[in-house]
Amino acid sequence: MFVDTIIVGAGIAGIAAGARLLRAGLDDIVILERAADVGGTWRDNVYPGVACDIPSHLYAFSFRPNPAWSQRYSAGSEIQDYLRRVARDEKLLIRFGTEVTDMEWDDSENGWKIRTNTGAYRCRTLILAAGRLSEPKSPEFPTLSTFEGPVMHSSRWDTGVDLAGKRVGVVGTGASAVQLAPRVAATAASTTLFQRSAAYVVPRNDAEIAPETQALFETDATALTRHREALFAEAELGHAARVADGVDRAALRNTALGHLEAQVTDGALRAALTPDYEIGCKRVLLSDDYYPAIASGAVHLEPSALVALDGNVAIAASGNRFELDAIVFATGFATTRPPYAQHVRGRDGRLLADHWSEGMTAYATMLVAGFPNLLVLDGPNAALGHNSAFVMLEAQAELAAALIARMSIEAVDVIEATESAEREWTARVDAASTGTVWLSGCRSWYVDERSDRLTLLWPGTATEFRDALRAVAEAPLPVANENIPA
Ligand code: NAP
Repeated sequence: MFVDTIIVGAGIAGIAAGARLLRAGLDDIVILERAADVGGTWRDNVYPGVACDIPSHLYAFSFRPNPAWSQRYSAGSEIQDYLRRVARDEKLLIRFGTEVTDMEWDDSENGWKIRTNTGAYRCRTLILAAGRLSEPKSPEFPTLSTFEGPVMHSSRWDTGVDLAGKRVGVVGTGASAVQLAPRVAATAASTTLFQRSAAYVVPRNDAEIAPETQALFETDATALTRHREALFAEAELGHAARVADGVDRAALRNTALGHLEAQVTDGALRAALTPDYEIGCKRVLLSDDYYPAIASGAVHLEPSALVALDGNVAIAASGNRFELDAIVFATGFATTRPPYAQHVRGRDGRLLADHWSEGMTAYATMLVAGFPNLLVLDGPNAALGHNSAFVMLEAQAELAAALIARMSIEAVDVIEATESAEREWTARVDAASTGTVWLSGCRSWYVDERSDRLTLLWPGTATEFRDALRAVAEAPLPVANENIPA
C-alpha cells in the first residue's frame, strides 16, 4: 500500500505531525502505532501519582487549547484523555496494533519501504515520531530472576499488583520516582528508596483551577491564549539559570535548598538529600510531598545505588541489605540510543544506529544525511528542561508540514541534509551547549555517554528553537546535491 507520508508513533509528536499535515492540506497520511491507543508516554505511564510538572495550559497544543484543565499541573489520565480527544477531533487516521519492524530507503523509487507486523507499506516521506521516553531502562542484575515478587518499571506499571502491606524497594530519584514513592509509601508496609544521586526539588504548589476560570477560558479564547503566552514567557525565564552561573541560577538553587531546609529538619537526612552537582544539570523536580514522605520515615532513604540482588535481599552500594517483597525501577529510559535507529536503513543500506554510533545528530534537529525524505521528531536536541515539549514538537511538526508541502509545490522528489549541513548544525549546537549547566559534569539522560555531547536537549530557549526551525522552513529546500547522479 502506498501512502505519501507515514508517521510512526501516535504520541504527542505523532499527533502534532498528523494534525499539522492535515491542517496544511496534506491528507495522504497514515499514523502507524504499535499500541492500541494514542498517547505514548501518557498512555504508558500509569504509576500512582503520575502527573505533569509543566503547567496544564502550556502542556497542550496551541491549535487545540483545553479550557477545562482541572489542575494547575494535570494528572496523567487527564492528559491522556486530552490527547485521545485531539486525535479524534483532528480526524487522524491511525492504524493501531501496527508495529513497524523495518524501514528502508529505496533509491529506485525515491521512497521508503516499511515493513510491519500487519503488512507492508511504501511511502515518499517517513516521519519518525517514536518518542524518547518509550523504552524503559532497568539495571541488569543476573540474580533478578531469583527475586520472588513483583518487579515493575515505572512506565510498565501493573495495576493488578497490590503493593499494600508489602516491603517495596523504589530505585531512582528522577521525576517518576519522586511522584510515585510517596504514593507507594501510603499503603506499603515499608518503602526503601535507593538514591544514587540526590535530586533538586522545588515547591510544586499545585492547585485546582477554579470553575470561574474554566468558564472564562471556555467563552473567551483570547483570555486563554494570553494565559498560555504568559506561562510560556514565564517558563522561558528558566533558561537563564541553565546557561550561566549568575543570579538566576543562585535564585533557583536557593529555592530548592530552601525547600529542602523547610521540609527536612534532620541535619543528617538533609545532608544526604543535598545534591553534589550543579542545579539544572539534571531535571529540576517539583514536589511538595517527596521530602515530607522521607522526613516522616514513611519512605526510608538509602543514600546509595541498588547494586545487587541476593534472592529477595536488595544490596545497596553502601553494603546495606534490605529484604523486599516488590521492586519498582524508576530508572528512566533508553534516550541516547533510540531503539528505532536499529530498524532504519538509508542510502546504501546504512543503518541509522550506525550513523548515530557517537550519538544522535541531524540538520535542523530532523533531517539526517544519507536518510532522504526522513524527518525525525523528538530526536536529536529537540527536548527541553525548562519549557513545554508541546512547543518543541509543534515547531518540528510545522517544519515537517512546510517541507512536505513545498516538495509538491516545487516538484522536488527528494529532500536530504548534506553531510556538511548536518556537521555545521551539530557544531552550532555544540557551541551553544558549551558552558551550559547540562555539561557541568553530572550524569543525565540529556548527554550521550559515548561522546559526552548534549544530544537530547536543545541548548537554547524554546523561542530560539522555533525561530531556527522556521528559518529552515523558509530557506531553499535541503537537497543533497552530491547524492544526485549527474
Ligand atoms: P530519569 O530521570 O532518567 O531517572 C532515573 C533515576 O534512576 C535516576 O535518579 C538514576 O540515578 C536512577 N538510577 C538508575 N539506576 C539506579 C540504581 N541502580 N540505583 C539507584 N538509582 C538508579 O527517569 P524518570 O524519573 O523516569 O524521568 C525521565 C523523564 O521523564 C524526566 O526527566 C521527564 O522528562 C519525564 N517525566 C516527566 C514527568 C513530568 O512530571 N513532566 C514525570 C515523570 C517523568 P542517577 O541520577 O544517578 O543516574
